[in-house]
Amino acid sequence: MDKCKIVEDLIPGFCDGILNDESRKFVEEHIKECKNCADKIEEYKKINTDENINKEQINYFKKINRRNNVKVALGIIIIILVFLLGNYIYNFTIMYRYKKNYEEISRADNYYFERRENAENSVGIVKVWKKGNKIKREEGLYDDTDQYHLNRIVYETIGSNERIEIDEDDKSATYVTSKLTTSERVLDGLYPNLGVPLSMKSNIFFQLGTPFYGKVEGTSRNGSNREYYIIQYGVITLYVHKDTMIPCQTVGETSEKSFYPNSNDVVKSEFIRKNYYIYNANTVSDEDVNVPNLDGYEKSYKDVEF
Ligand SMILES: [Zn+2]
Repeated sequence: MDKCKIVEDLIPGFCDGILNDESRKFVEEHIKECKNCADKIEEYKKINTDENINKEQINYFKKINRRNNVKVALGIIIIILVFLLGNYIYNFTIMYRYKKNYEEISRADNYYFERRENAENSVGIVKVWKKGNKIKREEGLYDDTDQYHLNRIVYETIGSNERIEIDEDDKSATYVTSKLTTSERVLDGLYPNLGVPLSMKSNIFFQLGTPFYGKVEGTSRNGSNREYYIIQYGVITLYVHKDTMIPCQTVGETSEKSFYPNSNDVVKSEFIRKNYYIYNANTVSDEDVNVPNLDGYEKSYKDVEF
């Protein structure tokens, strides 16, 4: 067999130094005599070195690519952060204005507030008149035949722990002494509160947290062309007038359990509950809030916790 052919096969192993002693010696002996094979080995080494250079180049460009990839990733992260921050600021601003507005209008000297709460078979109504430190509150409901029932009228004074509860049906007046004084926050509990009690307004963390409780879904217009913010919190959608920041409606899914006497059945019904809100500034007169003449009413007195 031609020695040159054998050596040719052994060149890569020879250059990488992985031949056994016998084969290595065979190649070394041969290239002493054969210039041709010696040249081939030199050439192979050279090409191998060229490949190393190429590898370095490839690594160099890979490094650049990696650096650029990091830059692109950082850019994307920054864009996302800016978007999230913008989104947060947008949501925070609107909800903060809503709460701020509540503070102002709940402390206003003269206002009328009404909440209509649509339950499944009835509409509950709360009406509040406030003038100075005097408050009149009326609670009633429309039943499923659209009959209005006035449950009671309450006259109270901010800072006082006494109030008068009037039942028009049986012409009675109850003079109530409570352990609590009537608060300036007359609208607490009546006013939609964005999932965070509005009374927590003073806590900066709750203020900063509002965008995590609620989200401004957008705006819409009604027939009169007034524009609303649509704020979603939990299962409740709140509509707020864009120009006044006053709530006008909440819509929410709700479920109620009914227990039937003489039966173990519990019936759960789900329905959409809608609340409507009205706030009018400076429309209340003294007549609205002054306790009327109660001659002829049956009077009683009681002490209560609340
Ligand atoms: Zn040879």
